[in-house]
Amino acid sequence: MRAGAGSGTLRRMRETVQKITVDGTTLRARIVRKRVRNVNATLVGNELRVSAPPGVQRAELDAMVRRLARMLVRRARAEVLNADDRALAVARKVAEKFPKPPRVRSVRFVTTQRSRWGSYSPGTGLMRLHGSLRQLPAWVLEAVVAHELAHSFHADHSAAFWKLVREACPATDRANAFLEGVSWISERWERLPPVERALLAGS
Ligand SMILES: [Zn+2]
Repeated sequence: MRAGAGSGTLRRMRETVQKITVDGTTLRARIVRKRVRNVNATLVGNELRVSAPPGVQRAELDAMVRRLARMLVRRARAEVLNADDRALAVARKVAEKFPKPPRVRSVRFVTTQRSRWGSYSPGTGLMRLHGSLRQLPAWVLEAVVAHELAHSFHADHSAAFWKLVREACPATDRANAFLEGVSWISERWERLPPVERALLAGS
């Protein structure tokens, strides 16, 4: 009996619980030290369950836990964004505007890459869209779809490319200006002086 109680205490000592906030989401991280080869993490609701080898240093572990937490939060968000087929319907509607409509088999919102608004593979029919596009106006998302589909006819940004994409999507130039503005402000947001930031946020 004593041995059982003792190992129970030991188990509690090996487990630490801490709060961690990534991408504005606060998680309860339960970190258990045990004989595992790598640091592993799973996200169950708002609880992050981590197992870590005993030898990993605290600072290194904290950094790894943050990285894993962010990856899992973003993956969970992608699942929410991809839970319905609205974007697929939009992409197929836009594809019909091309003289020879490219085939769109699936559309996935991606939450791991920051740099590209979209990509499309004519071979697989898979279109990937930047995860934040869901929050932008529908006509902007449609313009990104048209841009990516037009690349299946012209790989470059030649005059012929722009002619084709403008025919399929007359709002192309306005959408490009809109996206430039979005990129501009998001790249600078953290560095903006507090007053300008507050003014832009409307407060
Ligand atoms: Zn392009």
